Amino acid sequence: MTETIRETSLAASVSRALEACGVTAEALGGEHEARSPLTGEVLLTVPTATAEDVTEAITKAHEAFLQWREVPAPVRGNVIKRWGELLTEHKEDLAILVQAEAGKITSEALGEVQEMIDICDFAVGQSRMLYGKTMPSERPGHRLQETWHPLGVVGVISAFNFPVAVYSWNTALALVCGDSVVWKPSGITVLSALGAHALLARAIRDTGAPADIHQLVIADRHASQAIIEDPRVALVSATGSVRLGQEIAPRIAARFGRALLELGGNNAAIVAPSADLDLALRGIVFAAVGTAGQRCTTMRRLIVHESIVDELTEKLVSAYGTLRIGDPTEPSTLVGPLINEKSFNDMQRALADARAQGGTVLTGGGRVLADERPDAYYVEPAIVRMPRQSEVVQDETFAPILYVLTYSDFPEAIALQNGVPQGLSSAIFTNDQAEAEKFISAAGSDCGIANVNIGTSGAEIGGAFGGEKETGGGRESGSDSWRVYMRQATNTINYSGELPLAQGVKFL
Ligand code: NAD
Repeated sequence: MTETIRETSLAASVSRALEACGVTAEALGGEHEARSPLTGEVLLTVPTATAEDVTEAITKAHEAFLQWREVPAPVRGNVIKRWGELLTEHKEDLAILVQAEAGKITSEALGEVQEMIDICDFAVGQSRMLYGKTMPSERPGHRLQETWHPLGVVGVISAFNFPVAVYSWNTALALVCGDSVVWKPSGITVLSALGAHALLARAIRDTGAPADIHQLVIADRHASQAIIEDPRVALVSATGSVRLGQEIAPRIAARFGRALLELGGNNAAIVAPSADLDLALRGIVFAAVGTAGQRCTTMRRLIVHESIVDELTEKLVSAYGTLRIGDPTEPSTLVGPLINEKSFNDMQRALADARAQGGTVLTGGGRVLADERPDAYYVEPAIVRMPRQSEVVQDETFAPILYVLTYSDFPEAIALQNGVPQGLSSAIFTNDQAEAEKFISAAGSDCGIANVNIGTSGAEIGGAFGGEKETGGGRESGSDSWRVYMRQATNTINYSGELPLAQGVKFL
């Protein structure tokens, strides 16, 4: 894949990858510019949907749902099985699109598509395991059970930084659960969306499923409002900033729709005096600078025991000095570009605020390759020593800035870790078992993800993924997240020939 991009121009390799995924010329051309953060160039243009188009997509998805919900779940699994096969076959093609639009290094772009393949495997298995419980009834000759049924249309709104993986967690499970899907991808990563959609459309055709169970709408936030407002959209699964959640959650709640929110994080790792510092160093560097600090699970805060902070920050600064920053298609590159100029400006503003609040930038923060690529934004990841918990540390700046704070006793470390509005991911590096257990106990980390001796990012699909507080409380991907995409019914079946009432109530 790397060779492919470097041998040809970026736009040409993107066009080839789109064609290989089955995206036809009709899906291209239009007003919306698909730009690459690698160079800042416009790769292609695509047409966008109007508000009427979005409503029509919901209508089609709803009609398809009425058929799809009656197809046995293991048969529904066949679509996802086929999608997984096609994703495996076209892993490199889709990864080229992800790399070109989201700026990921090659192994991370391939990893993103691998995550899609993994969730397909998981969802196919899940299609035979949509279990309900049977409970003993208090009445003779009665049986009590729960059944799970398809929910309806699921609206999926996705963020630029995982343009296809997080969407696929939702879509693979929603489709095996008998729902249909209307997908509004980020306007920044529309070509990746076209590629993933074309492969799913082919899987739907190959398996004879109703054609309209998956709808892609490339629409701006105004045109896509029907996804939030239309009562036929039973569940809105939205991934993005806290601001997005604040805008849409009250409106979905007002119509009693369901919302699955995967919003911003502000993830920290505690490094205890007993930690293996070399292992911690590797875990910290991957989590803090991987994807150029543009993962929801990026490590943004490091809470280090005061006895080891100088040693650890010295090691970190020297490790940061070895990172190769630049074109993510180069095999040796570890840090690709920021997504756009706004992101660069946000980073500079946060660094200025950190300095104003008493912080010292130990390394990084500057722009690189500006002469060679004036329309792209490559930066040196920054480490900032902060004297205390301060305002800037409370915010998620979607760029590679790692704030270093110190602690003197363990309760203080936990208080610092939990002392932000977001609650996505967290980690501790320690070889003290009691500390590790406390960290993951009820009185420890308040996040949806709490790791031991591993960084904050890079989750596997098998576990439930999501976070608390301003991160939104949603859970998706593995474990029993499938239930979010279904409705539960409780059935009482009376085979006694009598009509005894519960709680011994007498009537008639
Ligand atoms: P964003 O909030 O700007 O946009 C996310 C999506 O929401 C896009 O598709 C956008 O078009 C859409 N959107 C925004 N406002 C909308 C509105 N009012 N109505 C309908 N749609 C609207 O986020 P981004 O910059 O694309 O992504 C980065 C953010 O996403 C970060 O905060 C990151 O932490 C978060 N994120 C969270 C997770 C998670 O699982 N918790 C995963 C990935 C990204």
